[in-house]
Amino acid sequence: MPQACSHCGCLNQSTHDIIRNGTMNSVVLLGQYNFQPVYLKLKKQRYLCKHCRRTTVAITPLTRRHCFISNAVKYVIIKELAQMQSMTLIAQHLNVSTTTVIRQLKTYGDNLNPKPSRLPSHLAIDEFKSVKNVPRAMSCLLMDNATHQMVDILEDRTQRYLRAYFLRFSLEERRQVKTITMDRYSPYRDFLPRLFPNAHVIIDRFHIVQLLNRVLNAYRIRVMNRLRYTQPRDYTKLKRLWKLLLKPREALDFTHYHTHRLFDGLISEKGMVDYLIQLDAQLARTYDFVHRLIEAIRYRRFQAFETTLMESKKYVFPHKVRTAFRTLTSYALDIENSLTYTLSNGVVEGTVNKIKMIKRSGYGYRNYGHLRCRILISTQLQQLNAEPVRPLYFCDEAAL
Ligand SMILES: [Zn+2]
Repeated sequence: MPQACSHCGCLNQSTHDIIRNGTMNSVVLLGQYNFQPVYLKLKKQRYLCKHCRRTTVAITPLTRRHCFISNAVKYVIIKELAQMQSMTLIAQHLNVSTTTVIRQLKTYGDNLNPKPSRLPSHLAIDEFKSVKNVPRAMSCLLMDNATHQMVDILEDRTQRYLRAYFLRFSLEERRQVKTITMDRYSPYRDFLPRLFPNAHVIIDRFHIVQLLNRVLNAYRIRVMNRLRYTQPRDYTKLKRLWKLLLKPREALDFTHYHTHRLFDGLISEKGMVDYLIQLDAQLARTYDFVHRLIEAIRYRRFQAFETTLMESKKYVFPHKVRTAFRTLTSYALDIENSLTYTLSNGVVEGTVNKIKMIKRSGYGYRNYGHLRCRILISTQLQQLNAEPVRPLYFCDEAAL
């Protein structure tokens, strides 16, 4: 029996106040068994208040008022939303409508909505293709690079929007940002540091290596095409053995000699590379410098990196290689940072990849709000610790 009437508030002290007044039938969706829905037929007691002549119905902890889908099912929907699957599929498996799934997505996703009042000391930023109706279809992802936690998802990635977003934080707050990690193509490179006066910019080491490998490979293709009709055998060698040119020099095998169908007699991997690069003087020089730079990055010797770049000015290089070297010289400071800090863009790029998966699992999203909620649910249900993932500096890591 209720203790008081929910309409007029009078206490239930005797049968002169509140009495039983029939029942109300309702059906509650409890869950599913072997993909079949399980319903609970519930008879809810109805009460009549003698003072105000109005009735109230007993409430159940199984569902919210006026709902017939149990809270347990709603909880399962949220758990399922964190996995890579379409919302239609979740709806089918749990015997609810797609609208119900979307409603849960919105309610729960809005609760997760990050409203950062503080900025992390180590910020990582990357952009991703989101939905059509945001400007240029690109959105922006901010993460804490030390703890790998999501900071925020920004709808727009234009300079104006980002500036307005970051200027909401006080200068004090922005001053304590120590590093910003971004990839090489980042359009933020030039204007973001101005908002964070104390921040070091870090360019992902992987992207530098990738750039170097790409220019070396591009030049190999140019040489290859030039030799196509004059030296067809060398053309084939350059075409088939492309991987060897990109292989780290210290990983090349120079002790085991084998027969190879493209070469006469016995030859080692090192021998093949030596043969390939002597085909063109500039290829040999590019090969040498590109590998020296990559080795300097791998062993984190910034001094060697810088001197190699300086030395490259003395020689003639193919146009694209020269441009790449010039780019690297202009990023020298960022590269030095990337060799000091262990931070890389890996975690944001991993998350961007995850976002791609989410988009694909739902056959694309049209609504930015829905996509955003889905990303928040699937990332935040999994990561709850706020501890740094690894030491920040390479020197600290070596000491461990
Ligand atoms: Zn009443």
